Amino acid sequence: MTDPIIAAENLTKHYMLTSAGFSSRTGVVHALEKVSLAIMPGEVFGLVGESGCGKSTLGRVLLRLEEPTSGKSIFEGEDLAGFGPERLKKFRRQAQIIYQDPYSALNPRKRVGKTIEEALEIHKIGTPAERAQRVTELLSTVGLRPEHAKRYPHEFSGGQRQRIVIARALALNPRLILADEPVSALDVSIQAQVINLLEKLKADFGLTYLFISHDLSVVEHMADRVGVMYLGRMVELADKKDFYAEALHPYSQALLSAAPVPDPTKERSRIILTGDVPSPINPPPGCAFHPRCPRAMDICREKRPELKEIQKGRRVSCHLHSNS
Ligand code: ADP
Ligand code: MG
Repeated sequence: MTDPIIAAENLTKHYMLTSAGFSSRTGVVHALEKVSLAIMPGEVFGLVGESGCGKSTLGRVLLRLEEPTSGKSIFEGEDLAGFGPERLKKFRRQAQIIYQDPYSALNPRKRVGKTIEEALEIHKIGTPAERAQRVTELLSTVGLRPEHAKRYPHEFSGGQRQRIVIARALALNPRLILADEPVSALDVSIQAQVINLLEKLKADFGLTYLFISHDLSVVEHMADRVGVMYLGRMVELADKKDFYAEALHPYSQALLSAAPVPDPTKERSRIILTGDVPSPINPPPGCAFHPRCPRAMDICREKRPELKEIQKGRRVSCHLHSNS
C-alpha cells in the first residue's frame, strides 16, 4: 500500500466572532469539525457541498495557510505542524493553489510573464535567461503563446487568465494542487477547456488534486473519489463510481437530485432541500442535517451519527446506515 500524499486527521477550525460595530453576533463558527481524509498520490479527490459548508476552510487548513484549532495535516508522512521555515518553504513549492477568481489572483499591474517568473525568483530557481525560457515553456504548456508574456491580466479572457494562474502554479513543479472552484467563475463554454487542461496536466506531470466544487457534474467528470461536506463535517466518502451510482447520505442524494442530469433519459427522483443551511454558529444537535432531512428519525435529533465505514472505502455518517 502506498502512503497518502496528504492526510487530515480530525482537522477542526473554529472562528471566534466578536461583536464589532453594529453587529451583535458573537459566538463560535464551527467551520470545520474533526475532518479526516487521506488523498493518495495521483488521485483526484472531489470535495462537494453547498456554499458555506467548510470546503475552502478544509483546503486552507489542510495546506496550513491557516492554523487549525485542533487536528493534524500530514504531508507525505510528516506532520506539517513540525515543519520549520525551510521545510515549510519547500512544502509551499510542492503544494500549489488555484482559486476561483483568476483576476484577483493576478497582479493587474504586472505583465503575466513577470508574474510567472516571480514564482521562480522567490525560490531562487535558475538564471534570468533560464527563467525566461521556463516562462515561455509554461505558457505553451497551458495553451498560451510566448508573446502573451508581455501582456497584462486585463488583456486576457477569464479562461486565459485561469490558464496563466495554472502556469504559475506549475512553475515550481508541484506534486499537489488544491483547486478551489477553479472553473466556477468561468463561462460554461470555457469550463470544459480548463477542465481538460487540468486533466492533461495531471497525466503529464503526475499531479494529485484536491478538487473543490459545488458542481456535481464537474466532479463526476474529474474525480476518482468524492467527499461530501455538510456544516463543517464530512458526511460521505466514496469512490466516484459508487457515489454517482448510489449516494447513501440523504444530503448527498439531495445534492445529486438538484444537479442537472446530463442524460435526460436517466430518471432521477428529485429531493428538494427545504429550509436554509443552518448556521455554523449554532449547529443543530444530533445529525446537523436532520432539520432538512426527508428521512429524519427520532435518533437523528439526539445523537450525532459517526462517519462509519460501511463498505470498503465507503463511509457515511447517517443513522439509516448504522447498524449498531
Ligand atoms: P465553502 O468553501 O464550503 O463555501 P467556507 O469554508 O468558505 O465554505 O466557510 C465555512 C464557514 O466558515 C462559513 O460559515 C463561513 O462563513 C465561515 N468562515 C470562513 N472563514 C471565516 C473567517 N475568517 N471568519 C469567520 N467565519 C469564517
Ligand atoms: Mg469556498
